[in-house]
Amino acid sequence: MRINAAARSPVSSPGQQLKMQRDSPKPLASDALPLPVSLTNKIFMVLFFSASYYLMRRWREKIRSSTPLHMLNLGEIVALMVQLASFIYLIGFFGIDYVQNYINKSSDGSWDLDDVRGGDIPRRQRCSAAEIRIPRPPVLLRGKTLADNADDDIASAVREGAVPSHSLEAELGDCGRAASVRRQAVELTTGRSLEGLPLTGIDYASILGQCCEMVVGYVQIPVGVAGPLLLDGFEFTVPMATTEGCLVASTNRGCKAIYQSGGATSTLLREGMTRAPVVRFATAKRAAELKFFVEDANNFETLSVIFNRTSRFARLQDIFCVLAGRNAYLRFRSSTGDAMGMNMISKGVQNVLSYLQHLFPDMESVSVSGNFCADKKATAVNWVEGRGKSVVCEAVLKGEIISKVLKTSVSALVELNMVKNLAGSALAGALGGFNAHASNIVSAIFIATGQDPAQNVESSHCITMMEALNGGQDLHVSVTMPSIEVGTIGGGTQLASQAACLNLLGVKGANLESPGANAQTLARIVAGAVLAGEISLMSALAAGQLVNSHMKYNRSSQNVAEAGTR
Ligand code: ADP
Repeated sequence: MRINAAARSPVSSPGQQLKMQRDSPKPLASDALPLPVSLTNKIFMVLFFSASYYLMRRWREKIRSSTPLHMLNLGEIVALMVQLASFIYLIGFFGIDYVQNYINKSSDGSWDLDDVRGGDIPRRQRCSAAEIRIPRPPVLLRGKTLADNADDDIASAVREGAVPSHSLEAELGDCGRAASVRRQAVELTTGRSLEGLPLTGIDYASILGQCCEMVVGYVQIPVGVAGPLLLDGFEFTVPMATTEGCLVASTNRGCKAIYQSGGATSTLLREGMTRAPVVRFATAKRAAELKFFVEDANNFETLSVIFNRTSRFARLQDIFCVLAGRNAYLRFRSSTGDAMGMNMISKGVQNVLSYLQHLFPDMESVSVSGNFCADKKATAVNWVEGRGKSVVCEAVLKGEIISKVLKTSVSALVELNMVKNLAGSALAGALGGFNAHASNIVSAIFIATGQDPAQNVESSHCITMMEALNGGQDLHVSVTMPSIEVGTIGGGTQLASQAACLNLLGVKGANLESPGANAQTLARIVAGAVLAGEISLMSALAAGQLVNSHMKYNRSSQNVAEAGTR
């Protein structure tokens, strides 16, 4: 869970180290002065202006008495020297601020740590001993540092508990070697083989501190492509990581039907990641006072300035507050550029909470997340209010394409959609589940492109509508998805294979010209691919083809029982 990043080992992550550096006293350029800087400033200011005043008076007298200006008496020479000295000091004084900024780039009003860390590309961590600071003296094994021992010996030491498994990256300074040793230790401890789980072929340094801990390898998931998806006039080849046979083939068929009907159109309805901390007061009355305060339009500017300070990309949009007795849940909504934004918004929320604490000293912060966000849960608040990107995507399918490509009819699709996706889901008490299989497509694209797969829960909220057009000749089909939570920077998007899939879609990384545009396009693509998936599966169901195609693509020709015993 990204929000839990702060809970990682206190010094093992470079981000944490930066924070520690930021929190520790900083060297000040003004420390070099013999007197307190404020006193020194005043003295030199007075000297500068007194000398200037004296010289100007003297020059005026000289002009009046026609005395050459370059004829200087002792007093004028002293005044000139004082003026020069104080001038040099004052230049230096203003320079101090510059020097100070240079020394301490991160100030309270600066961008977030990641921004400070160096530009627009999120860090790719190297796994060198120098970068991973060891918070305590290095572990010694047989009188040598851990890295100087053989892998077998280290694995045995881990198994015996002499070396903590989680410290291997820091102790060895080599993430690949750490994963290999840990894997050996796991095999020793459990007596079970990890053969089949790949070890090589991945950059373990890019995982460290960002994507996974206690790494022993990686799971292979096949990636297929569906497309071209003709969406908003552009063609996309959509990568889908899945082990469900038929899924990519089916989505591909939906793409074909859309393409031959002239393409799909998407509209971004709203955009904003949310985070809702919960705070508590002694009384519900006080909690209500907080609600009125944060929802008062007159206070929005102050709160947004405090919030926006944490990142170049976080821009507070609104705060929606609900109460449960004396507990107040403040649902912050913010744009987050091309990042999915959970980390980003959490920093802004923390800033505002600190500010509110001064105004409401009796406020008790219970948790930075109070579940009214709502992250990774099916909730009405996301369904109605949206979270991440809210997108509607539509296409008009021609009757002849429906019969030629999809092997069904407009009327069969309209009826099936009403009976299954609307009435059936209503009977089931669905929350955002008025669709055939949006979650299939969302999950496959999420895994391929490095999104947080757990956010598939709300990202798959979708209502599919199918309505006859032109007297039943054609079909208007749409998917409305209020909570697509995607990013093209941060988290798993920076891993090589996931970045390659983003690259295929032309949305890799940050969009430099228009921050946020890459993530928006990705959300539109997700909706477009869901539209294709819905069209195809609904057609298969309407035509009674589903079981046949699943038997063809999903059933392995291999002996499954035998494979399971290997
Ligand atoms: P998340 O919250 O999705 O986990 P993070 O906030 O941790 O993502 O990572 C996003 C990082 O990328 C931030 O440090 C941010 O400053 C940086 N960044 C650079 N360019 C962009 C951009 N165009 N949009 C969003 N973030 C960007």
